[in-house]
Amino acid sequence: MAKVALSSIAKSFGATKVLDGIDLDIADGEFLTLVGPSGCGKSTLIRIIAGLEHQDAGSLAIGGSRVDHLRPHERRVAMVFQSYALYPHMSVGANIALPLTMARLRLWQRLPLLRLLSAERRAVMRGIESDVAAVAAQLQLGHLLDRKPAQLSGGQRQRVALGRAMVRNPDVFLMDEPLSNLDAKLRVHMRTELAELHKRLGTTFIYVTHDQVEAMTMSDRVAMMDSGAILQLGTPSQLYEKPASLKVAQFIGSPA
Ligand code: ADP
Ligand code: MG
Repeated sequence: MAKVALSSIAKSFGATKVLDGIDLDIADGEFLTLVGPSGCGKSTLIRIIAGLEHQDAGSLAIGGSRVDHLRPHERRVAMVFQSYALYPHMSVGANIALPLTMARLRLWQRLPLLRLLSAERRAVMRGIESDVAAVAAQLQLGHLLDRKPAQLSGGQRQRVALGRAMVRNPDVFLMDEPLSNLDAKLRVHMRTELAELHKRLGTTFIYVTHDQVEAMTMSDRVAMMDSGAILQLGTPSQLYEKPASLKVAQFIGSPA
């Protein structure tokens, strides 16, 4: 069964049709990349999977269940953004912990009386700290937990953003051009790091990029998009060796 199943997903902004009936099944543990030129609808599609946008038509299932009615934090997905979206005033540790703090301390925020139960609150905090420490160790961020984002390199900031997604232990990672703010050398290094992370976690990755080299080197399968449609879906070598159209061949850089 597909981990993520998109069926006839359509979306317009005003009179502009941005997604024109997308069908796509993504397998459990797969690294699937949406690639295509700027404006073709990649971000809109991944944002619909995340629940940050809602489709006009079509259905979306994750883990076999329809999630159309679920809010972003209720879907078992975590999104990593190009801009990192880190809070500058918070430490690395607090940035990584944020989704857990929001989820696990919500009870305390809603019910002020419970603040009195400080022993239990401390136990929750300790649980969060140990989860954050485990993720930070995986990403070699353990020694940086007290720093502020401004005191980190671009690559370290990107790893913090990854950590904040990992700490929720999602079933699906959604990444929208996560490396595009990095310089060329670091970008190449982070490709390897991400591919290794994917292997280690064994979790489904849905990755968005306009960079065909990134798509071709990291992915199990690539969905090549243009103008709100998938032109071709296949393994990198299938797209390279048997491009379905001239457009795919040109974008991927297949030999003519
Ligand atoms: P990509 O990520 O492939 O560059 P997007 O999904 O961001 O493409 O955008 C696809 C098209 O939808 C573009 O023409 C963009 O201008 C338009 N678009 C995206 N988001 C909005 C929005 N919130 N309102 C209006 N138009 C939008
Ligand atoms: Mg985009």
